[in-house]
Amino acid sequence: MSNDSNESSRPIRIAIIGSGPSGLYAAEALTKQRDAPVSVDVFDRLPTPYGLVRYGVAPDHQKIKSVTTALQRILEHPNVRFLGHVEYGRDLTRDDLARYYDAVIYAVGAAADRALGIPGEDLPGSLSATEFVAWYNGHPDSEASALTLTASGVAVVGAGNVAIDVARVLAKSVDELAATDIADYALDTLAHSPVTDIYMLARRGPAQAKYTTKELKELGELAAADIVVRPEEVELTPEEDAAVTENVVRRNIEVLRGFARKPLEGKPRRIHMRFLVSPVEITGQGRVEDLRIERNRLDERGRAAGTGVCETLPVQMVLRSVGYKGRPLAGVPFDARTGVIPNESGRVLRDSAVARGEYVTGWIKRGPSGIIGTNKVCAVETIKQLLHDAPDLPRATQGDSAAVTALLDERGVAYVTLEHWLALDRHEQELGKARGRVRVKVLSRATMLELARRGA
Ligand code: NAP
Repeated sequence: MSNDSNESSRPIRIAIIGSGPSGLYAAEALTKQRDAPVSVDVFDRLPTPYGLVRYGVAPDHQKIKSVTTALQRILEHPNVRFLGHVEYGRDLTRDDLARYYDAVIYAVGAAADRALGIPGEDLPGSLSATEFVAWYNGHPDSEASALTLTASGVAVVGAGNVAIDVARVLAKSVDELAATDIADYALDTLAHSPVTDIYMLARRGPAQAKYTTKELKELGELAAADIVVRPEEVELTPEEDAAVTENVVRRNIEVLRGFARKPLEGKPRRIHMRFLVSPVEITGQGRVEDLRIERNRLDERGRAAGTGVCETLPVQMVLRSVGYKGRPLAGVPFDARTGVIPNESGRVLRDSAVARGEYVTGWIKRGPSGIIGTNKVCAVETIKQLLHDAPDLPRATQGDSAAVTALLDERGVAYVTLEHWLALDRHEQELGKARGRVRVKVLSRATMLELARRGA
């Protein structure tokens, strides 16, 4: 890191807020280019890096999680510094960043969930997939008591990959989860799970579902769960069939028809995949007891329209998995309707005009869509704008990398460095090795901080 006080000759100082894939791919794009020397600080409010790779990707998807090897290499680059356990808006404000950095990139993802807006949604037993995912992944903002699993019937609302993750984790046997890095308490709760029937509810048809085929196929390969699909719900009219242009949709429909043909094997659990149904009311005395759903048809614009024909599902838990949305950051523009920071190819817009030195990438830029790799392309676009603007960006008055850590020290912020994180990482993997698991996650922030410092 340069301590050069000559503002124009020092590297461009860039702060990235968020160390998930979107933030780290932005850091990578900055270090890979040769146009301008850079010095990058990646902040995260958590003591751990990797965002949704650690706390979103399902624990039984270790192959997807192995992207952390590549993400770690980005953090190890000599021009990149990790500063975890530093919360934007609390430990560092927008004004601080303007003093210490020439440019800021917001890469905070989309942490909030969407609601269904139906009666009974607030009853105990009705929760968001976001909460369930945070619980089984041991997110430090969640805890063991965030979920009691007493339901035999569970509805999972939504037809995306998160709905599949949630249904699959609920349907798996404890043996299928035991070697993963699922939170200890979640493994214990799921080992005693009374769940027998999981209803996945798509408001539109199979051709409109957002699943990727690999994830969909996996549902048919579970040790402890049969898959139940009604043949009539996955048939398309000749017009609908002719309108299918995407290969992924065609492949998904083939998989679903295969499920519909497959005889049940008498496994202890069943996943019922339903199409063209919407939840209309959750009922129960003080807790979820039933879910009323209505059959839909597609209107002329391809939207779900109710038919008035209803049925009731015997479920005691409802998990809504109907997409994420961004949360506003203090001092940063936010479009509440779309849940993103308004931007033009990654340049933040303030009152419709480009804001100098402010950029955005990932889900908070484009909305919650795409797979992990999509964020690479997204980051490259943002960094292209930043590098184009760089020669004209006003230089920060305190562009020395030591100044910002001095400020954090002064404020009593116990920031976590890469060395700290790697110590915690080793500790978790060693715990896992001793117990035949890929890793055992440390769950509380306080213990994480203590172990990270002790081991570094
Ligand atoms: P998503 O793919 O956008 O799916 C959201 C689903 O919710 C859609 O089927 C949508 O239906 C439905 N929905 C929205 N509002 C609804 C309502 N009021 N009632 C009923 N259904 C409603 O979102 P996601 O599943 O949260 O996933 C987010 C992103 O992460 C996606 O890009 C996904 O592929 C990715 N992801 C990938 C993996 C993986 O690769 N293994 C795993 C998890 C997540 P409509 O289409 O009708 O709006």
